[in-house]
Amino acid sequence: MTVASVSEVLAIHGGSPVRKTLLPYARQSIDESDIQAVVETLRSDWLTTGPKIAEFEEAMAAWVGAKYAVSFSSGTAALHAAAFASGLQPGDEAITSPLTFAATANCVLYQGATPVFADVLEDTLTLDPDLVATRITPRTKAILPVDYAGHPADLDSFLQLADHHGLIVIEDACHALGAEYRGRRLGSVAHMTVFSFHPVKHLTTGEGGMVTTDNPLFAETLHRFRNHGINIDARQRQRAGHWHYEMVLLGFNYRLTDMACALGLQQIKKLEANLSRRRQIAARYSAEFRFMAGTVPPRTRMDVNPAWHLYPIRLDLAKLAADRGKVFQALRAENVGVNVHYIPVHHHPYYRDRFGYIGGEYPVAEAAYERLISLPMFHSMTDGDVDDVVRALDKVLAHFEK
Ligand SMILES: *Cc1c(COP(=O)(O)O)cnc(C)c1O
Repeated sequence: MTVASVSEVLAIHGGSPVRKTLLPYARQSIDESDIQAVVETLRSDWLTTGPKIAEFEEAMAAWVGAKYAVSFSSGTAALHAAAFASGLQPGDEAITSPLTFAATANCVLYQGATPVFADVLEDTLTLDPDLVATRITPRTKAILPVDYAGHPADLDSFLQLADHHGLIVIEDACHALGAEYRGRRLGSVAHMTVFSFHPVKHLTTGEGGMVTTDNPLFAETLHRFRNHGINIDARQRQRAGHWHYEMVLLGFNYRLTDMACALGLQQIKKLEANLSRRRQIAARYSAEFRFMAGTVPPRTRMDVNPAWHLYPIRLDLAKLAADRGKVFQALRAENVGVNVHYIPVHHHPYYRDRFGYIGGEYPVAEAAYERLISLPMFHSMTDGDVDDVVRALDKVLAHFEK
């Protein structure tokens, strides 16, 4: 241990932490205009199936540049609906990434179909199109790429495969609202694009989700699916002045409330500023970490502009006398709220037991998982917060450097 490091005793070893209070890895921003909008809706006639739903959907469709946007009670419900609309059923397969939140693969299981994994690309940790091509069988119906951390997946390659094999591309863009792929905002590039409005995401409605699409048939099915499979909603019935409706498919109650949509309508106004702040923070992090021993910052391809839901670094374990768990605990002790995204889906007991995964099937995702740490990334982080993260990482990695 060098003399200089005496003053830099890690908090995990009893030293004083870089921050006095915990900086979370993500958090929502709610201002007075958000609160007012929700309160106004609470005083209105419609708490659900009211006018705010269509207003929010139209605003989202316009913002992402898609013809249709259909809201849901969560991103997971939106994924389920997209899986349904794509026609997935028992006996079918859908190919997705193992390095994602379990909901991406679970939505395939909800339809009684089988999720098939393909490994990710080493640089962006998004689904590898060449490996997807090797997993296509006559039973394959859909591909579900994930825009990991907010970096768009290689969508054109998946669309080409889909064209060739008659498949549907459902993009899990829950990390990537506002990201651009080859000059276009995500939302109408894939056949269906799924967003989440959980509080850690770019825009929040508490819980909530959305599917955007240019396809009117998908949009109609998505509408019905979220409302019990009924072909007309309560407000339309009231306007039409009659009681009759028909249930035409087996749907769910996956509706988002008017309070939630009122909040979403305010939040969407702040999306541009939110995205530019995240991009600023990412640029600052990347500049700092470029030459910091022991870490590899996330890589960005030339043809995209990521939305930076996460800022995941990969540790260079060959240069460190500690594993990811140790570095993680040391950073937490410095009051930097790091996280890990994700435990590969096929490592979860449910998937192991049901499909017989033993580990080792997807080496790129698995090797990345051993090294990944998500640093704090949210739009209301101050420059001081960013400094703290940089200082804490520098302190911890310097300590463990071989
Ligand atoms: C957040 C998230 C979801 C699920 O969204 P919820 O709104 O929490 O249901 C699905 N996939 C990914 C990749 C996510 O990050």
